[in-house]
Amino acid sequence: MPLEEYRRKRDFAITPEPAPAELTGATGRFVVQRHRARRLHYDFRLEIEGVLVSWAVPKGPTLDPGVRRAAFHVEDHPLEYYDFEGVIPKGEYGGGDVIVWDAGTYDLHKGGVDSGELHIEPFGQKLRGRFVIVRTRGDEWLLMHKHDEWAVEGWDAEDHPQSVLSGRTNDEVKADPDRLWRSDLPAAEASVELRPPPVPPPSDDELAALDELRSAGTWEIFGRSLRVTNFDKVLFPARDGEKPVTKRELIRYAACVAPILLPYL
Ligand code: MN
Repeated sequence: MPLEEYRRKRDFAITPEPAPAELTGATGRFVVQRHRARRLHYDFRLEIEGVLVSWAVPKGPTLDPGVRRAAFHVEDHPLEYYDFEGVIPKGEYGGGDVIVWDAGTYDLHKGGVDSGELHIEPFGQKLRGRFVIVRTRGDEWLLMHKHDEWAVEGWDAEDHPQSVLSGRTNDEVKADPDRLWRSDLPAAEASVELRPPPVPPPSDDELAALDELRSAGTWEIFGRSLRVTNFDKVLFPARDGEKPVTKRELIRYAACVAPILLPYL
């Protein structure tokens, strides 16, 4: 694996908890969500003291040190929202589609929200190097990239429209979302899965039960009763000194691959 790709993969991690500060120097997680509500904007969020401190950045963050982006300080979001990608129903707060445009951890080098100036270094797949977020007046802030080795002139967020979670664009997520976010519900209940829950693979006990069945019987699997005759019928004759494949083996194989295969069918 090329070094650059390795570094990207290593540095990008959506973890349930931030790594201990003494190990990485990381202050917490950051996420940027591309959100098409009434207007397109990017939500730039920093995990600080158990919430996601948030700014709405209409044109998105940039690596171009010559460009200042307007950023509007909006209400804190719950940590549950950190990796949300999907659709917020129309008519609810923030109604529209959302992708995880970038995510990772960040270091706070200087300042804080209360002082109206933060110097941060995100370790994302897209955002790298040092940024400054500075309050100008009220809720209006500016987001800038410093002149450093990560700066890229002319870099524009809209040229990099894919989710770092799924590789999908907002259009693709909107057309076939995995999750809904119900803004009208408490954070712990707001995320609604739209896909059937994954089927767990057969347990060792279930596989042992299949072996114990005689030539015919009923195998209890995936919450159903599968009645089968001629378990030991040879379906594929022995070849190259290997054992023949029986009906029992084929059923075992189908059950083992089903949890992986079914979501694609
Ligand atoms: Mn938003």
